[in-house]
Amino acid sequence: MSRLLVVVVIFIAIYLLLRHYRKQMPKKDVLGEDASKHRENMVRCAHCGVHLPKGESIMLDHKHYCSEAHRRAHTDEPE
Ligand SMILES: [Zn+2]
Repeated sequence: MSRLLVVVVIFIAIYLLLRHYRKQMPKKDVLGEDASKHRENMVRCAHCGVHLPKGESIMLDHKHYCSEAHRRAHTDEPE
């Protein structure tokens, strides 16, 4: 009978541990949100098609470019 009591105590301990770890999980969700926010700010270079953060891009006429060279190459050369 005392063996059964030990098993029950072990199960309760495992349950409490799992509950403790689940409380720490939301932190990971917050990081996931930050990553998706980061992805929203990605823009595509109108010249070569490379993806880069909006803040690092060069914008002209509502188009984004990865570098000054591509901005010039795309706007100076008539299509
Ligand atoms: Zn480019």
